[in-house]
Amino acid sequence: MSSNYKSLGIRPVINANATLTKLGGSLMPAEVRQAMQDGAQSFVDMHELQQKVGARLAEITRNEAAFVSCGAATGLLLATVACIQKVSGATFESFPNSLGTQNEVIVQRMHRNPYDYAVRQAGASLVEIGTMDGTSLEDLENAYSASTVAIFWFQGAMNQPSELSLENVIQSAKNQGVPVIVDGAAQLPPASNLWNFTQLGADLAIFSGGKDLSGPQVSGLVVGKSEWIERIRLLGAPNHGVGRPMKVGKEEMMGLLAAVERYVSLDHEQLLEVYEQRVRVWIQGLNGKGGLSAKRDYPNEAGQPVPRALVQLPDHWSKDQLVDQLMAGQPAVSVAPSEKLNAILLNPMTVNDEETQIVLKQILKVIH
Ligand SMILES: *Cc1c(COP(=O)(O)O)cnc(C)c1O
Repeated sequence: MSSNYKSLGIRPVINANATLTKLGGSLMPAEVRQAMQDGAQSFVDMHELQQKVGARLAEITRNEAAFVSCGAATGLLLATVACIQKVSGATFESFPNSLGTQNEVIVQRMHRNPYDYAVRQAGASLVEIGTMDGTSLEDLENAYSASTVAIFWFQGAMNQPSELSLENVIQSAKNQGVPVIVDGAAQLPPASNLWNFTQLGADLAIFSGGKDLSGPQVSGLVVGKSEWIERIRLLGAPNHGVGRPMKVGKEEMMGLLAAVERYVSLDHEQLLEVYEQRVRVWIQGLNGKGGLSAKRDYPNEAGQPVPRALVQLPDHWSKDQLVDQLMAGQPAVSVAPSEKLNAILLNPMTVNDEETQIVLKQILKVIH
């Protein structure tokens, strides 16, 4: 018996799309896999491991404290529960049955996105402020009540210049004694975001371990104030609280630690040059071929400071048709359809140089 993808009849996918959970997120480099393998070879005290890994992660990311969650989504959920408990007095054991009305989380209307489900899953009721066109300080000041437990800030493609800025939100929240939590799940690079949000005054910042950090898929990193991290730790496994169904293994904790250590030591400037080069290969190889028009696009879909190639299609091709045909090809290639244009987008972060060429070849093959 061999337990590999091929034995299941599953074809590997070349990912020129993004660090998407539906494609498996990202690939773990050798040092991460090694740390997971080493971690798998002995039993440990899991309370101690979470604390010591957290202390090391805090040091590396220049934060007071850190916690390894089961994906960033669990970080959002446990952070929300911690905030609800602090204000409502709901105990560890009585949650969620004791949930009352002191559960309001303020969020800007334009920041609403599918991941805020994890905040609502914690029993929070979202209090939306502003409109899709903008948010004012007054909107925020009018939203506070005795039931306010936190303000959530979502960082990503949802951000717009007309939003109430994070600086303003933090300043106002401080005056009210309300914690600010930043969902920065996909906001790496830049690596400095590991400390930027919290240095700006956010109480907690939450990152996905399985996106550009290239740690284990089921890992997430929560960094911030010790008080909050302590509350979150209590809620998580191996304790029998709300976080018990979302446990993180010893292997994932060690894998995430290795991934973050690696990430902060990478030469991100050089990496950016590699990405620029891949984008140039795509643009030069595709522009003008079969009616295609290719150019550099920046920043990318997650708002990361990384280029991608925008390839506009001739009228007789629809983007969905091309996306489907590339995925059905041999090998399968995943690319992103543009939201607004009849175009596809090619992301250099999730391919290697050889795959960059394969993506180019497959597109040329399909459109001819
Ligand atoms: C990816 C993402 C998440 C979820 O991260 P996981 O690690 O997959 O749980 C949450 N919020 C945003 C904005 C994201 O992009």
